[in-house]
Amino acid sequence: MSDLKATGFIVGIAEDFLAHARAIIGEHETIVVRLASWTEDGVELDYVVELGGLLLNGVSRDIALDLLARTYKRRSSRVLWGEWLMPGIPERFQFLLEERFPVYRRSSLEVGPGWLDMLWALAEWLEQVDPGREPFMQVKEKFGSLRLYGPVTDAGEPIVEAAELLSGYVCEICGKLGRRVTNGGLLTLCDDHASA
Ligand SMILES: [Zn+2]
Repeated sequence: MSDLKATGFIVGIAEDFLAHARAIIGEHETIVVRLASWTEDGVELDYVVELGGLLLNGVSRDIALDLLARTYKRRSSRVLWGEWLMPGIPERFQFLLEERFPVYRRSSLEVGPGWLDMLWALAEWLEQVDPGREPFMQVKEKFGSLRLYGPVTDAGEPIVEAAELLSGYVCEICGKLGRRVTNGGLLTLCDDHASA
């Protein structure tokens, strides 16, 4: 990849993250990416949000935004190689996710491919703050939200709650900015997939 292409790619990731984050925090507040840089694990986003420490539906908004940035980092590490959404890739990626993280081994993941990057970022973060955590009993979608049934720990709970909140803003099919729509049942989808 040429430097120019790489720069465009990194800027694109930062812009997508900002649009996604703004949909979560609302138009009246400011969020700025100070630095976006390529690492071997994807695009690292260093950002500041105007008001820290707020709750969104009882969940730490800071943790939800942090999980979003980690999700974009994970996503960017795969998009770069042209992998995402090619036939068979989501299934293979789901298998890798279950193989890589013991927390997902007890039950298969009953969610769409658009949430797999978020689940990867969640498990990676849980490994850091809550090592040795017992596996989730169930990982599924319900009323357009991610539901994680399993152990409750002081260290892990805020991040698990943030993932459930964040899922309401992530298209379950493609991972782009989504919103809850009624489409047979209640689902979280982007505009493209909501009208498909
Ligand atoms: Zn979509």
